[in-house]
Amino acid sequence: MKIEIFLLFSNLNLIKTQHFMANVLWLQGGACSGNTMSFLNAEEPTVVELITDFGLNILWHPTTGLQIGDQVQDLLKDILAGKVQMDILVYEGSLIKGPNNTGTMNYFADRPMMDWIKELSKVAGYVVAIGDCATWGGIPAVAPNPSESTGLQFHKKNKGGFLGHDYVSKGGLPVINIPGCPAHPDWITQILVAISVGRIGDVLIDEFHRPKTFFTDFVQDGCTNVTNFAQKVDGNFGKRGGCLFYEVGCRGPMTRASCNNILWNRQSSKTRSNHPCLGCTEPGFPHNDLMKGSVFKTMKHLGVFPKEVPTGRTKLAYYMEAGFQKVMPTNKRVTETSK
Ligand code: SF4
Ligand code: SF4
Repeated sequence: MKIEIFLLFSNLNLIKTQHFMANVLWLQGGACSGNTMSFLNAEEPTVVELITDFGLNILWHPTTGLQIGDQVQDLLKDILAGKVQMDILVYEGSLIKGPNNTGTMNYFADRPMMDWIKELSKVAGYVVAIGDCATWGGIPAVAPNPSESTGLQFHKKNKGGFLGHDYVSKGGLPVINIPGCPAHPDWITQILVAISVGRIGDVLIDEFHRPKTFFTDFVQDGCTNVTNFAQKVDGNFGKRGGCLFYEVGCRGPMTRASCNNILWNRQSSKTRSNHPCLGCTEPGFPHNDLMKGSVFKTMKHLGVFPKEVPTGRTKLAYYMEAGFQKVMPTNKRVTETSK
């Protein structure tokens, strides 16, 4: 029977008392280290608890690893030779293939990173891509894409990426994608725990290989502006009492992520602090390829109708409803009471 991974944490103490072990290798390609920063900020569990209580043995990590130079190279060779078992390969950052498909733009441990990834992915128990760059190319893959960046198993919305459409790891799963710019720390740690305790087979993934536990709800679910969305009351950056969909490009109704249910730093989210959701967990990110004038701006037909409407709605139905709500007197009431 399939379960939701959060059930694991209703038995947190039970899991902690059992003995599990998983060797993790974390590598970075075309990355800003944002996902590493997010990971190091994890709270439930913390990174230290992952190691002491949940049996994660981090073989090497570019920020925290003690080994340097030849030592890292020797470790990678030992993994490939089968002397060291690698249960989880975590990859952060885009897979750089440039120039001309040589990968030499991203050298690591004396050879192109893409050559290491090609070989390591064949011996990995599971492969986890963390952040938009690793999942589908992210910002580095925006045209003209001079580094020839792509994601591990997707290039934007298209399945394939670097490892190919049919890749599965030794554990029998394709690349598990945890997107975000960066990914929420809980999304990362809970998937790593699920693997380390042998429960990853219970985690459902969607068409983009995202764990459904975190990427089924929309960002809008739990947003404190939903009444304003329903009543078509416009908001703006930092201004309470309005929805950010109509003018400043909030993608909350089109973006699957748990940002308003599993809050960031246990405190808040972008939209709760009146900042538009950029849709960073969707494979189209960065949307409109960062075209001038498209960021923090709602793209419209004829300057009036939003080009993209909430997922699951037809444009005609949405436009009719929006027009009706715009002239309803409740708009004034909501605006006034939320100042
Ligand atoms: S601010 Fe964004 S997420 Fe919140 S209700 Fe408006 S469109 Fe939805
Ligand atoms: S609110 Fe939107 S842009 Fe912000 S982290 Fe969540 S999905 Fe990404």
